[in-house]
Amino acid sequence: MDRKYALVTGGSRGIGRAISIQLAGMGYFVLVNYRSNEMEADQTVKIIYENGGECEKIKFNVGNQVDVENVLGEWMLQNKTEYIEVVINNAGIKKDNLLMWMTNDEWKSVLDTSLEGFYNVTRFLIKGMLVKRYGRIINVVSLSGVKGMAGQTNYSAAKAAVIGATKALALEVAKRKITVNAVAPGFIQTDMTMDIDANQYKKIIPMERFGLPEEVAAVVAFLASKEASYVTGEVININGGLYT
Ligand code: NAP
Repeated sequence: MDRKYALVTGGSRGIGRAISIQLAGMGYFVLVNYRSNEMEADQTVKIIYENGGECEKIKFNVGNQVDVENVLGEWMLQNKTEYIEVVINNAGIKKDNLLMWMTNDEWKSVLDTSLEGFYNVTRFLIKGMLVKRYGRIINVVSLSGVKGMAGQTNYSAAKAAVIGATKALALEVAKRKITVNAVAPGFIQTDMTMDIDANQYKKIIPMERFGLPEEVAAVVAFLASKEASYVTGEVININGGLYT
């Protein structure tokens, strides 16, 4: 049987780990990307193999175009007849601050990771999908990018920009059987939300709890499947009813 490949950026922890495990369960050989935390990447690889799946870790900084193209270019050289048919742009960071206090680094690093990361990875890999006339691109955005969140102008701007890119790219590639969608999680239990007072926020979430990474991964898995062939340019909220 032919191997099929999926790349999950930021696949080593949190939501990305849950997505990597799901895609491996669907039969994909998963490229589990991470930036620096090798131990977490190794842990994800271990879980996938324990579950009978296949994967490898792949280290690059999505915000660094040279790094992305060197590492993915090398992968392509080693796998000349293959292509990556599913790309999950999940890597993201938050550096919250009120705009008046925001530093250039807080602004730039957040946009570099989510927005430049989307651009660097997707532009490089979409050529393969266009040639093969099949592909799935799923961008992990956020409630912040849909409705805006105080203290997150950088993060909201980055995620809203990726929503715009999702809709535009969906139109560009639709006739080649490539779908481009986004998922917008609300509050999900990961390292990213560890510093948030859950009790305070639970009061405003209709489901009265934070979501689990697996609940995001389940929606991503559907969008990545063949069955989602007529869904494109969509943003699916996964937020326990917080904003729909
Ligand atoms: P997380 O637990 O902090 O994990 C972040 C992942 O992204 C890690 O694998 C990390 O790798 C990787 N990463 C960060 N910067 C990177 C870069 N420049 N290049 C490559 N990989 C990079 O985050 P999460 O909560 O799972 O969030 C995943 C995505 O969901 C993000 O886009 C986030 O904005 C979005 N989201 C999260 C929530 C939430 O409540 N958690 C809500 C809405 C949206 P290392 O470990 O090597 O640093």
